[in-house]
Amino acid sequence: MADTVNTLPFFYGNITREEAEDYLRQANMGNGIYLLRQSRNYLGGFALSVLHSGRCYHYTIEREPNEMYAIAGGKSHRTPVDVIDYHSQEMDGLMCLLKKPCNRPKNMQPKMGPFEDLKEKLIREYVKKTWNLQGAALEQAIISQRPQLEKLISTTAHEQMPWFHGSITREDSEPRLQHGSRTNGKFLIRQRDSNGSYALCLLHERQVMHYRIDRDRTGKLSIPDGKKFDTLWQLVEHYSYKPDGLLRVLTEPCSRPDGETGKHQNVAGGILYKLRTVPIPGIKKNRGSRHTTDNLNPYETSVPNNQAAMPMDTEVYESPYADPDELRSSTVDRNHLFLEDGELGSGNFGTVIRGTYKMKKTEKQVAVKILKNDDNNQSVHEEMLREANVMQQLDNPYIVRMIGICEAENLMLVMELAELGPLNKFLQKNKQTSIKNITELVHQVSMGMKYLEEHNFVHRDLAARNVLLVTQHYAKISDFGLSKAIAEEQNYYKAKGHGKWPVKWYAPECINYFKFSSKSDVWSFGVLMWEAYSYGQKPYKGLKGNDVMQMIEGGRRMEAPGNCPPEMYDLMRTCWTYKADERPGFKVVEPRLRDYYYDIAQ
Ligand code: AMP
Repeated sequence: MADTVNTLPFFYGNITREEAEDYLRQANMGNGIYLLRQSRNYLGGFALSVLHSGRCYHYTIEREPNEMYAIAGGKSHRTPVDVIDYHSQEMDGLMCLLKKPCNRPKNMQPKMGPFEDLKEKLIREYVKKTWNLQGAALEQAIISQRPQLEKLISTTAHEQMPWFHGSITREDSEPRLQHGSRTNGKFLIRQRDSNGSYALCLLHERQVMHYRIDRDRTGKLSIPDGKKFDTLWQLVEHYSYKPDGLLRVLTEPCSRPDGETGKHQNVAGGILYKLRTVPIPGIKKNRGSRHTTDNLNPYETSVPNNQAAMPMDTEVYESPYADPDELRSSTVDRNHLFLEDGELGSGNFGTVIRGTYKMKKTEKQVAVKILKNDDNNQSVHEEMLREANVMQQLDNPYIVRMIGICEAENLMLVMELAELGPLNKFLQKNKQTSIKNITELVHQVSMGMKYLEEHNFVHRDLAARNVLLVTQHYAKISDFGLSKAIAEEQNYYKAKGHGKWPVKWYAPECINYFKFSSKSDVWSFGVLMWEAYSYGQKPYKGLKGNDVMQMIEGGRRMEAPGNCPPEMYDLMRTCWTYKADERPGFKVVEPRLRDYYYDIAQ
């Protein structure tokens, strides 16, 4: 949302209430002129400033937990702009109707908050330390989980601030403030107890004043009877420009002594938060500190217990061979592979069952595709080896990786386990899955497809049934049985003939000219999106392959699934552009999904 709002001419960013009043007065445009600015106390919230009869009125537009926006106690709307549109028709509690936007002066960009600059650096450091990631794995983690990471960072950023001294006593805080310069307004914040309460210690005429900062039931922080804030850094920012009940404004941060960090119970240097205690399939058990529930940072009380695990929390985010001690090998030793009872699924080649693979350092849960014995004829055997060969060349968090081939009593393909199974089936069974969650998953698929496109592979069987879920928030593309590497200069793969094809997922040029490219994968991706937003329904229900082809040739396309966001249906329609040349690639599709996902997830 913030990104979209940033482009509004009457959005000023992180300006103060007083600055807003100046702009409105200078504009001198009469009653009902308004501007929008970023809330300085509520994360993701906004403030609306309006001029009426010479006075300025300020209304907070809060972001509600259901991702709707409302002026406190008022009607909820999908975006802050919808709130403004509504109040230009209805006063509904406001002093006047919103009449005219007060646009920013020429060449003025919305003002960035001090935290915006820091945020990027903090996110990067956090991901690096917590999951020990670097390079492409680090970038991909940030892209796919930015909204979640931003939230985490925002509520823990104070730990990085020099003025945050952790849990020192009142007695310890005083000499720290008295040491060195004794500037009026010199300050620090200390942690008081483990219930999320703090103290602001402020130097005033050589005396240290201590103000309690308490956390209310909704997690908001305030000094007694003071303004409420989501985070400590917002509180500090506010009292740095206005005393608002304190003896004076905050001026000079009193820095922590050298070498001391604001973090306390955190062994690895990452910021702790409490993961749900119910085990999540595929969740790493060995990446220490984040998963311990003892010695919790008090801030954790503000993070919901059921915080969803991120892809990086699972053991399949990085290749098992990312660890240099695990020698990459395309073959798996049968003696190290233990097969379990119980089928995960079955496909063209035979069954897929669960197993464990003992590696040098760790034991991995795996999925093993077993070629049926009676099918051990040469051509199927070769087909499976071709699939393994393609998979072996790919290494991306959003693609099921092959761990190795095992040639024993049967030919076996050992893969990463994606325990929750195919996306279409999951959504059929879990109709309460939110649009945000679906968009998160579909975006991950687009990231995996962008990687394939960049590496000149065509998938040729992209469909919701071939997207497997590791967790409800982590999708991987699978089934590379039809996939091909394509010559860079040619840009497409020409099939020799028509096989058993998933026609409903195929672009016109696949059917008419047997031509397959990343652009035809984009067409399939549009169908996959349709499947996802319709909770796993079959596309073109009741139609035969031929009917579908006629429908497409006649310029008709599937309708939007019920409740599908218009932005996402629009993207599907773009994926179904008839001519491959005019169809966008994943290079374009992925950022469009990303933008929409950030918009609804922030
Ligand atoms: P396939 O032959 O690749 O179409 O796989 C058949 C079925 O086996 C899929 O629909 C899944 O239910 C299951 N399956 C395949 N690969 C995996 C995997 N890596 N992890 C978990 N289940 C899998």
